[in-house]
Amino acid sequence: MRIAGTVRLLTSAAAMLFVATIAIAADWEKLIDQDLPRLTETYKRLHAAPELSYFEEKTAAFVAQELRQLGFEVTEHIGKYQQPGLTGYGVVGMLKNGNGPVVLVRTDLDALPVAEKTGVPYASKARMKNENGEEVLVMHACGHDVHITCFVGTAKLLVALKNQWKGTLLMVAQPAEEVIAGAKAMLADNLYQRFPKPTYAIAMHDNPFLPAGTVGYTPGYALASSTPVDILVRGVGGHGSKPESAKDPVVLASQLVMVLQTVVSRENSPFDPVVLTVGTIHGGTKRNIIPDEVKLELTLRTYKEDVRQRILVSIDRIAKGMAAAAGVPAERAPVVHVDEPMAGPPTFNDPALTERLVHVFTSLLGANNVFKVDPVMGSEDFGFFSLNQQIPASMFWLGATDPVKFAESKRTGTPLPFLHSPLFAPLPEPTIRMGVRLMTAVVLDLMQK
Ligand SMILES: [Zn+2]
Ligand SMILES: [Zn+2]
Repeated sequence: MRIAGTVRLLTSAAAMLFVATIAIAADWEKLIDQDLPRLTETYKRLHAAPELSYFEEKTAAFVAQELRQLGFEVTEHIGKYQQPGLTGYGVVGMLKNGNGPVVLVRTDLDALPVAEKTGVPYASKARMKNENGEEVLVMHACGHDVHITCFVGTAKLLVALKNQWKGTLLMVAQPAEEVIAGAKAMLADNLYQRFPKPTYAIAMHDNPFLPAGTVGYTPGYALASSTPVDILVRGVGGHGSKPESAKDPVVLASQLVMVLQTVVSRENSPFDPVVLTVGTIHGGTKRNIIPDEVKLELTLRTYKEDVRQRILVSIDRIAKGMAAAAGVPAERAPVVHVDEPMAGPPTFNDPALTERLVHVFTSLLGANNVFKVDPVMGSEDFGFFSLNQQIPASMFWLGATDPVKFAESKRTGTPLPFLHSPLFAPLPEPTIRMGVRLMTAVVLDLMQK
């Protein structure tokens, strides 16, 4: 009897807990439902008014105003750049809610010089001057407008659910992600001295290769480091009809492009992913003139820092060695310039933190809607916020494609437009709803009372 009684008691306690959990979840859904029309409107407005990297002035002001209205302590104009004349700066909204972990939630703000071709009614027609003063069409082709919308939605929800978490919430909106400059600029402006250093840093990115309503994760290395490298191949110019009295940098540059392909295939372990791409080659003015120089622009992608360093040494060695082999005088050796200020770190998703996120996602959406996603060699600057993996950080993938189009693409084999495509059109509902739900649930889990 007693045993049976105890069991009954436990059962009813468990039932009450279950009811309470459901009630919280229902509250949540109700709050998101209430806010969704406004968020969808916000998304469309942001989408129609994108701003280029370094110039996200209005977007940053909008985020600051939203956070201020919600009662966050807001600091604007955070960021130190090397170049003058830039107007896009970071925003931090801080909300202290007792003792507990410091959780950084990051959104990016910038759009791209892309002429939109989605045909959606809120498509961008915006034009802007880029940092070189050229006017270009601008589009949120990477979906950072989705991130901003979910960011302000999450901030609002976390304020409403303040009695369910403790600690310090840092909502960080960074400019210039697409040029791998904004996160670095904010840290250079003493982000972690002016605000508490985070216990965890979290971000999300929309993903066209996942249907809306689902989420993806990648433990460990998820995105690669990116390093710009310029090679100035110098020769000795002359008349096109008299090659014997010149040292032709066009031929040398052509050979160099081919030999650089062997760095990855012959000098690197196949277990360490590397991409080395020569993206531009420029030289010469006229068909019958051997020019003095040819310029190459490369991008190097790696996960590991020691691999990155080794390949940079290889590039330098090969460029200089090949010039010597071609008989270019030593004083005309190629100039290899590694643009470290514009380099970005890999995105390393802390495995333990990512596992915790996966647990949250699974309990929220069910295992069928949570996907492990392969790492990519694309780049991001979110990794900067982890201070070289000292702070556990994780970025998850938010499904953004219309499930009907997703199924169609699977059936027909027609690829979906990827990020940066003029055709990339995230499906606002349920992408935004899911973004707010997932990010809020993650923060509540990390800051639980
Ligand atoms: Zn992008
Ligand atoms: Zn992006």
